[in-house]
Amino acid sequence: MKIIDAHNHPDWWGHDLAKTLANMDANNISQAWILSWECGANEFMQHYHQAFLASRDHGPIPFERCVAYKEKAPERFIIGYAPDARDPNACRRLRAAHDIYGAKVCGEVKCRAMYDNPDFLRMFRTAGELGMPVTLHFDYDRQFKCDDERVEWWGGTIKTLENVLAACPDTNFLGHAPGFWVHISGDDIWKVKQYPAADDPIPCEGEISRLLRQYPNLFCDISAGSGCTALSRDISFTKKFLTEFQDRVVYARDYFDTRHQDLLRTLDLPVEIMEKIYCKNAERLIENA
Ligand SMILES: [Zn+2]
Repeated sequence: MKIIDAHNHPDWWGHDLAKTLANMDANNISQAWILSWECGANEFMQHYHQAFLASRDHGPIPFERCVAYKEKAPERFIIGYAPDARDPNACRRLRAAHDIYGAKVCGEVKCRAMYDNPDFLRMFRTAGELGMPVTLHFDYDRQFKCDDERVEWWGGTIKTLENVLAACPDTNFLGHAPGFWVHISGDDIWKVKQYPAADDPIPCEGEISRLLRQYPNLFCDISAGSGCTALSRDISFTKKFLTEFQDRVVYARDYFDTRHQDLLRTLDLPVEIMEKIYCKNAERLIENA
């Protein structure tokens, strides 16, 4: 079965191009979406500096590095670029990335800003015009015990996501990260935990299910610990979720390990559903980009 990893980054966690390609081969991944990350220099926690070589001008993961990967192995990578929407030239730069370099995804959007503000909505609408799906990172404000004493938060709340979906009906969005996946359950766990544990129950379905039914422009990116843990909490719930929303969920890692494949393997889903999650939904999302 063809496998597309719909969320990864260049030079990420010790992986250069050669190591990334070797890792993709080892995990039967034929293509990866390689995404940039642009935000203010003081917006991200400093420990991230050991995960990448941040650009002084354009934030943590510059688009130039995505382009460099694509030039070396064009058939293996789909490149994504999300300018910081607060840059007055964000829409122009997004168009240039699409027209000149063939960027097909607007991602990863990860800024310390509410994504339903006018600057972001304008960029999201431009992405929609260009046929580019938008990958959104959400995180609630939490005080981390780490090298940054400030609260770190990204994007806003689940209500912010709903505002974005309603304001940009012609743009497809991929929900990603802890602030999104915590809402797989309809309880109050989002108030107390960034990462629910794999054995935290799902007493009832959450906002994600409601939003997926109400907004056809929402998709789910299962990458990272947040997506994997959310889908591990209640396996029978996960099977129902992935069956109902089989056209709206994409396999993605954000890592270089096998945890998401290991989880999907245990679910015993029909091959048609697995094909959609592993590649067809991701292919469909970028077919007009
Ligand atoms: Zn992210």
